[in-house]
Amino acid sequence: MDVGELPVRRRIRDRFRQEGIETLYPPQRAAVEAGICDGNNLVAAIPTASGKTLIAELAMVTADGPSLYMCPLRALAREKHETFDALPGVDAGLATGEYDSPAEELATYDIVVATSEKVDSAIRNGASWVDDLACVVVDEVHLLGSDRRGPTLEVTVATLRRRAPEAQLVALSATVANPEDVAEWLDADLVESTWRPVELRTGVYADGRVAFDDGAVQPVDAGSETVADAPEERAHEQPTKATSRLIEETVGNGGQALSFVRSRREAETLAERFARSGIAERHTTGGNDSAVADEIRAIDGTATGERLADCVRSGVAFHHAGLGSEHRAAVETAFRNREIACLCATPTLAAGVNLPARRVVVRDLKRYTGSAMEWLPVLEVHQMCGRAGRPHLDPYGEAVLVGDCDSPEELTRRYVEGDPEAVASNLADRSSLRTHTLSLVATGFADTPREILDRFDGTFYASRTPSPDLSGDVATVIEDLAEMELVRASGTSADARLSATELGTQVSRQYVRPETGTRIVRGVETIGRMQTDGGSVTQLTALEVVCDTTDMQDTYLGNRERADMYRFARRRSEELTTGMNDADDFERWLESVKTARILAEWIDGASVETLVESYRIGPGDLESRVSRAEWLLGAGDAIAGVVGVDTPIFESTRQELVERQE
Ligand code: ADP
Repeated sequence: MDVGELPVRRRIRDRFRQEGIETLYPPQRAAVEAGICDGNNLVAAIPTASGKTLIAELAMVTADGPSLYMCPLRALAREKHETFDALPGVDAGLATGEYDSPAEELATYDIVVATSEKVDSAIRNGASWVDDLACVVVDEVHLLGSDRRGPTLEVTVATLRRRAPEAQLVALSATVANPEDVAEWLDADLVESTWRPVELRTGVYADGRVAFDDGAVQPVDAGSETVADAPEERAHEQPTKATSRLIEETVGNGGQALSFVRSRREAETLAERFARSGIAERHTTGGNDSAVADEIRAIDGTATGERLADCVRSGVAFHHAGLGSEHRAAVETAFRNREIACLCATPTLAAGVNLPARRVVVRDLKRYTGSAMEWLPVLEVHQMCGRAGRPHLDPYGEAVLVGDCDSPEELTRRYVEGDPEAVASNLADRSSLRTHTLSLVATGFADTPREILDRFDGTFYASRTPSPDLSGDVATVIEDLAEMELVRASGTSADARLSATELGTQVSRQYVRPETGTRIVRGVETIGRMQTDGGSVTQLTALEVVCDTTDMQDTYLGNRERADMYRFARRRSEELTTGMNDADDFERWLESVKTARILAEWIDGASVETLVESYRIGPGDLESRVSRAEWLLGAGDAIAGVVGVDTPIFESTRQELVERQE
């Protein structure tokens, strides 16, 4: 099907052509045939790079009213916003400040791009624009199965369907085992395909050769690193050496490569090793000039930045969530511009921005999960592999699994021949159910247990469970919420009247979890007593409260730091709301004190470099904690207002954080 045949305005067709889209890819054609331009619901489960964006665009530009595009990550949302806003005659708005209050002006856009958390938060705060939506696109719908995001996504979609029952629903998914279940949930047609614009070969490396899924067995060039000659030694050759050879081969042929490893440290170590051995030098379009390296060095003075710049000078880079966002963006741009030939990354990159390469090498297929080394999910590995092959640039893409010391047969069986996991709901998880039950009551969408169950009826959970009975769980959760003084119940029957307390309403509006709300209440009450007793309420006090909640990320506390952190907590105990002997879980509390201390020093002017150095966190970790702290301090201030404790400490600390940021 030619772009000229699409039922969209000419300017939009021209724009598609400008992007190099002349003929629709087969899955896109299938989507048009399934009525994507006529308002029909559709689930498209197709591989990475097979053109999901165009499917979404066609639905949104032909919709008879405003559209919402929901995606899981802020970086992705920014990327999509830019794409949609560039469509002629389309005004696209972006709502990514995940935790800030919703802007009613979102109602003025043709397309709103937002994370599902942002949409959930907007709904809780009374956004009425969702009632007028004519089209809702849910990107990465396979994330329904993820811990916290999943339940938010399904409840938000269920709510949107009630609020805008006429809206067209389009869900975009990676290839999963049960896309038909998602389609059934959404009353949608299914377009399922494994078609890719660039052929993908997946292989498993063993003993100097890669066995591909098409039956080909390909020897790998020896590479410049020393490799043992004796066959028995070669058999035990380290996976890193194999990875190095696989990368060098691709880069030497003028291609770009991605290498996935299990941890941030591994990503950095591998990139530095490649830089030292010079495998990517001379192969980048920048001719190894140092412009990108200088740019990276200029971003901040951290040791990480230095190391990254040194790597970039040799044509390689590392990429993980611990990097500051500017460093990450610089690396992504440089890779796209082919100024970097090889990127060593953690698996998060595969789920994020679109950075294809000719060859993907997955070195680590197991990850430490806190108790044991576990196999990565098949879906995750497929997403990494799916990054191989750049349309218009590579004749084909290649993904090679190396693995630690696992037998190649196991890797083949599990990841090459094996199917990805099925998407399953996580809604029955108690903490999620509590959060969403409170939200339904606080927003007035439900005021009896029966109505709550009815609202959950539209979820993926309900559609997948033969006779879904959440009534026992919902009753328990209502009891929890009543005990937390967030909800009032007039009885225990299915028709008992439920209402949110003022505190419950505020907790829901501030978009914090119920557990976080009650922790803040305890903190606020202690602060009230400290103020009356003439105690010393400082920034550290407010920060300790918000850092000791389940909504703040954990900060790893190493053994060597522990004693120092303990002394710090003792020395400053007058300022803390938790006594040294009072924490339920002392270790976790000490981690919270560490986070609070880092943030307090940040406000006092400590540089990123110093904090990164002293506390062994990544610049990206500091950024994410600062933005969470801003949000949670705002919630602290609002909750103090409800509890009736007059304290400026949350707001003033928040202000200091904001100013320090600027
Ligand atoms: P994904 O399915 O991963 O979201 P995208 O929608 O980002 O993939 O598309 C990947 C690339 O393919 C983009 O650069 C896009 O411009 C290009 N593309 C999409 N559809 C076509 C087409 N029909 N013809 C040529 N290029 C296309």
